[in-house]
Amino acid sequence: MGTATAFFLARETDRDVTLLERDRLAAGSTGDSSAILRHHYGDQAIYTDMAWWSHEFYRSFDDETGASILHEDAPLVRFADAGTPGGEYATAGYDVLDARDIPVSRHEGDALRERYPMYEGADAFDFAVSDDAAGYSDGSDAALGFARGATDLGAGIHTGVSVESIETTDADPTAGRDPGRVAAVETDAGRIACDQVVVAAGPWTPELAATVGVDIPITPVREQIILLDPPAEYAADYPELTPTMSLPGGEWYVRPDVGGGILVATHRHAEEADPDDYENTPDEETVLELVDAMTEHVPGLADAGIKGSYCGVYSTTPDHDFVIDEAGPEGCYWCCGFSGHGFKHGPAVGKLAAALVRGESPTLGETRIDVEYFSLDRFADDPAGNGRPDDYL
Ligand SMILES: Cc1cc2nc3c(=O)[nH]c(=O)nc-3n(C[C@H](O)[C@H](O)[C@H](O)COP(=O)(O)OP(=O)(O)OC[C@H]3O[C@@H](n4cnc5c(N)ncnc54)[C@H](O)[C@@H]3O)c2cc1C
Repeated sequence: MGTATAFFLARETDRDVTLLERDRLAAGSTGDSSAILRHHYGDQAIYTDMAWWSHEFYRSFDDETGASILHEDAPLVRFADAGTPGGEYATAGYDVLDARDIPVSRHEGDALRERYPMYEGADAFDFAVSDDAAGYSDGSDAALGFARGATDLGAGIHTGVSVESIETTDADPTAGRDPGRVAAVETDAGRIACDQVVVAAGPWTPELAATVGVDIPITPVREQIILLDPPAEYAADYPELTPTMSLPGGEWYVRPDVGGGILVATHRHAEEADPDDYENTPDEETVLELVDAMTEHVPGLADAGIKGSYCGVYSTTPDHDFVIDEAGPEGCYWCCGFSGHGFKHGPAVGKLAAALVRGESPTLGETRIDVEYFSLDRFADDPAGNGRPDDYL
C-alpha cells in the first residue's frame, strides 16, 4: 500500500514524495500474500469496484509502471446452498458482477460435477457462482514494481529506515488539545520534515498511530500456507489443477500456483500473533487437518507432496473493512487494516490515498468511491465498526 501510494502521489501531484521502509520492500504481509484477484464480494459493491479497477491496473502494470508482474487467470468459484447466508452472499455477488458486465457464471445440478470433477461433493451443493475473470499475482512483484515506477517519477525510496514517531506542531494530543498538524517524521536515521504523511505500516500501524494519540483497532493474526506438489496423475486428469475456492467451513482456501503447484492456506482470522515474532512454519496439527480436508474434498490431492510452507500475518479490524482516512493531526493519513484481503485493492488504495492527500473527491475512473465507509470514526461510533464481517474468501 505504501509503494502504491508513493507511485500515485508521484504521478498525480507535484509534491516531493519519500517512502520510508524499515526493512526491505514487501517484507510485511505483501510478500506473503496469496495475491488472489477476485471481484465477487457479495453485496459489498464498493469492494467490487475497487477490485475490478485494480485488476485492470494489474493487467496493464508493465505499461503503467515500467515493471513486469506475475499475472495468471484463475476463476474463483463459490459453492453454495439456497436459503443460507452463503447462498445469499453468492447470489448478491453474482448480481453485482453481472450489473457491471464483469464475467460471472452460475452452475447447478449435473453441471457442477462436470465443471469441477476434482471436487468430491461439488454436486451436493445447490449451485456455484464463478468469478470467471479472477486470477492471482504476486505481492513482491507488485511492491517492487510500484517502487520502481515511483522512483522513475521522481519519488525517493529509502529502505532500512524505521519511522519512530510523527512530530506535530502541537504535539500533546493526550492533553485533549487540538492535535496540531504534521511537521516531520522522526526516524532512526534522523528527522525528515514534511507536512503530510501517509502511514501504511501494516500490523505495525497502531504503534505509529499511538505517537500522535490515534487509536486504530488492528489485531495481527497468523495464517498458514502450504504449497502442494500434485501427483502426476492428478495433474494429467485436471490440467487446470483446481479452481480457486474455499473448502467447506471457510477455514481453508485453495488456488492453483505457478509451476504446476497448488497453494492451500488458512483463512481463520483467529490466532493473534506478534508480527515481529511469530512461528513461520505451519503447525503439525494444521497440516494433518489439511490432509483430512483434502482426503474428503479433493481426494486426488490426498497424496500430494509438500514442496514449501510458511506463515503470514493479516492486519485485522473488527469488521474486516479497511481504514483509509485522515485522522489525528492535520495532514496525517492512515491506510491500514486490510484484514487479509488488501492485495487485490492495492492500486485503488494508492489512488484513493493520493486523492485524499490532494483534498479531492476519490474516484476510480468514472466511479466515485465513498471512502467514508473506511473512516476510522466508525469505531468511535460503534466498536464493531461497519458490523459483522463477511468472512468468505
Ligand atoms: C498469508 C496471506 C495471504 C493473503 N492473501 C491475499 C489474497 O489472496 N488476496 C488479497 O487481496 N490479499 C491477500 N492478503 C492480504 C494482503 O496481502 C494485505 O492486505 C496487503 O499486502 C497489506 O499491505 P500493506 O502494505 O498494508 O502491509 P505490509 O505488506 O505489511 O507492509 C507494511 C510495511 O511497513 C513497514 N513498516 C512497519 N513499520 C514501519 C516503520 N515504523 N517504519 C518504516 N516502515 C515500517 C513493514 O516493514 C512493511 O514492509 C494476504 C495476506 C497474507 C498475510
